[in-house]
Parts: sequence; structure tokens; C-alpha cells
Amino acid sequence: MKDHLRTALRDLMLIPGLSGHEGRVRRYIKSALSDLSIATTTDRLGNLIATLAGTPGAPSVMLFAHMDQLGLMVRKIEADGLVRVERVGGVPERALAAQEVLLCVGEGRDISGVIANKSHHATQPDEKYRVLPYPEIFVDTGYRSAAEVLAAGVDVGTPVVYAPSFVELAADRVAGTSIDDRAACAVMLEVARALKGNGAGPTVHLVFSVLEEFNLRGAVTAAQVLQPDIAIQLDLILATDTPDMATRGDVRLGGGPAMSLFSFHGRGTLNGVIPHPALVGLFESAARDANLPLQRSVHIGALTDLSYVQLVGQGVASIDLGFPMRYSHSANESCDLNDLVGLTQLCLAGLKRMDANLSLDRDDYP
Ligand SMILES: [Zn+2]
Repeated sequence: MKDHLRTALRDLMLIPGLSGHEGRVRRYIKSALSDLSIATTTDRLGNLIATLAGTPGAPSVMLFAHMDQLGLMVRKIEADGLVRVERVGGVPERALAAQEVLLCVGEGRDISGVIANKSHHATQPDEKYRVLPYPEIFVDTGYRSAAEVLAAGVDVGTPVVYAPSFVELAADRVAGTSIDDRAACAVMLEVARALKGNGAGPTVHLVFSVLEEFNLRGAVTAAQVLQPDIAIQLDLILATDTPDMATRGDVRLGGGPAMSLFSFHGRGTLNGVIPHPALVGLFESAARDANLPLQRSVHIGALTDLSYVQLVGQGVASIDLGFPMRYSHSANESCDLNDLVGLTQLCLAGLKRMDANLSLDRDDYP
């Protein structure tokens, strides 16, 4: 399982797929599912959906992860060929200086570029510790005029992402681009492999969703159509085992999968997820019985599109599960493959318990 996860994760991290431009990622996943003889459909937003039918009477489950990644988009091409960009999603400007990027013109035709970083020898003392806001940055592709840039296929609206990378670190840890949320896409493929042809357990809709980094609502469209009883989003859980994060929690990389007990985003969205108590209890006992560690996370400052999915229909019983990850939204995020194995096992153990006896009635819980 770990080898499958490593291969799929590497492949997926190396495929560019800015929000709204997930086509290449979707084609990879679609073909991986097709190799497992699992049929898929794609809705008009681009969500890829596969339904594995289960026992009638059991609740239906939407298990989802997002295919898209954050990045930039070409805003203006200067006469000298330097490219100005707009931000798509929560790109940390602190992490942009001197990064290599990829301007996604088309498969096999993508253009490499670098984000300029003012020559050190000309940097004034007051500039030394200043982060450049994104409107001031520019991308250098090597082309010397706007005409050359346009001729290469780059135009206003061209997606730009961190140059895709996959780095193997020691002890089954990896680093690179878009571990958020390709690691969960890889986990979902493993879940699909294990569930296919099973027939027992709940009906599981696997949704590989779009637009999460852009507007947090891509998966809502799938939920409206599927009307699941239960929704489980797989995404990163912030690891807090580095000195800069130490006071925020006890989530360790390599410490196993994690569940979020509370997420909230106060910067304008006023949304988050407080999971359904049935699912908290279910995954706690599933982890205990399967001898899996299960870490707990509470934090403010981030959320997933589960926040919106939970509001669909009569309300969807929801929970965020995930893998610990460091350095979120930088070009070198990091995770531990053993946590992905654990997350796969946790999903399978939890799904097995979702039978007709599982009550989602709030009055059955404190
Ligand atoms: Zn994510």
C-alpha cells in the first residue's frame, strides 16, 4: 500500500492543476480509476465522481478530496516580456521570492519561469526584511518582449504554479508541491482499490473536487446532486511539531492520521466545521479497534469546502479527516507516507462501521 501511495503521490504532485484548471489532474485520476474498472462522471464544474454501490439501508457517504492547487495567474505582460501575476488562493507572499514557476500553456508546451528577487548587492537596508506584496513581483521567462511571450502561448489568464516537484526526504517523508491535497487524492485511490467490488458497507461516492483553493465551494455542487447522509473530507491537518508551531497543538508528522474537532475561519467567511458526534465516536472506536493512532486537531485560521458541503439539503453529517502536513501552501510542503497509509486504513475501518444501525439523529447524542 505504501508503494502505491508513494507512486500515486509523486505522479499527482508533478501534475500542474491550478484551481479552475484541474483537467490534467482529473485525467490522471480518471485513468487510474478506470484501471481499477471504476466508472466515473464529471460534472460541469469539473468534479470527478465515482460511486461504489453498497448495502441498501446503510447511510450514503461522500468521501472527497480536492484536485486543485493554489497558484498565480498572468495579469499583464510588460513590453519587455516580464510577466505580472494575480494571486489564486492563499499564496503566501513570503514564500514567493526566487521561486521557480511553471506557466501552464498546454501539456508538453509549458513555459518555465522564475520569480524575480532583487539582486542582493543592490538591496537597501530598509528592503532587507520586507516581503514584496504580489502586485510588485514579476516573473522572468527569458523571453525578451511581450510579442515573444505571446508567441510562446502565454497570455492574460494563463495559469501559473510553483514548478512541480517531488523530493524524497529521509524516513518515508516527502516534500514538494501540492501535497495539499494530492496526498488525499492518492489516499482516495487506495480506498477505491480496497473497496472496489466489495459491495458490503455503505454506498461510497468518491469525489475528486475542484476549486477548493479558490472559493471553497466546488464540492458543494457534487453534494447537491449526490445528497449524501455523511460527508468526509480528506485534507491536510496542520502539523505543529516544529518550533514555529509549538503552541498550536500536538499534531506530529508521522504520528498517524488526524481528525479535526473544530475549524473556523474568521477572515470574512464565518465558517468552519464542528463534526457530527456520531462520526467522532465512530472514527475513535474504529481507530481503537484497528490499533491505529488518531491525532486530534482544533484550530482557527483555515477551513475546507466541507464547511459548505455540511449545509446541503437537510444537513450532511460531516467530519474532516486528514494527514499531518508541514509548511502549508509553500512550494515545499511536507508529509509522511506512513500517515497516508494510516489515513487509508482509518477510512476503510470507519466506512465498514457505517451500516443501517448507525444513527445520525442528533437526539441520540449528548
Ligand atoms: Zn487543501
